[in-house]
Amino acid sequence: TDVDVPSLLKRVYKEFKMIDKKHAYSIHNIPEFHGFIDEKLILQAVRAIIENSIKYTPKNKQITISCEKGKSHFKIIVSDEGIGIPKKHIPKLFNRFYRVDEARTKDTGGNGLGLSIVKSIVDIHNGNIFIDSEVNKGTTVTLKLPIQ
Ligand code: ATP
Repeated sequence: TDVDVPSLLKRVYKEFKMIDKKHAYSIHNIPEFHGFIDEKLILQAVRAIIENSIKYTPKNKQITISCEKGKSHFKIIVSDEGIGIPKKHIPKLFNRFYRVDEARTKDTGGNGLGLSIVKSIVDIHNGNIFIDSEVNKGTTVTLKLPIQ
């Protein structure tokens, strides 16, 4: 359906800012537009991405939500200042049950399903997901979705 994407992102931002006091949240670059998306599913995807940032970002570091609008597509971008993901793992992250390394992930919980679900949500929208990461610097997850 026709969704006011910026107001959806502002809602998510407020929600996490309120429930997660361990990280600093910021939101910026939010253009005004509507996208034709399944609101519940996109909300679920964005929440799952932010929940990963929370798990893999040290206390007091920043989690940022931003948005870009092009002619036919828009992007939802979540970046964190967390532990990052070694490059060789990035292509496999969308496989079900894939987790980067038991040693580093064992105390955070999770089953490696999060990103595979996000990928399916993006796929049914005919969109794309990109992950860019640098170890010890942080991770940026971009959802690219058609406006129509
Ligand atoms: P869950 O199913 O609860 O989300 P998960 O976090 O193990 O569990 P995914 O969301 O699929 O599963 O993520 C897969 C792996 O990618 C994680 O185990 C983690 O190692 C890595 N990862 C995902 N997001 C980040 C991030 N923002 N920073 C660092 N590593 C990440």
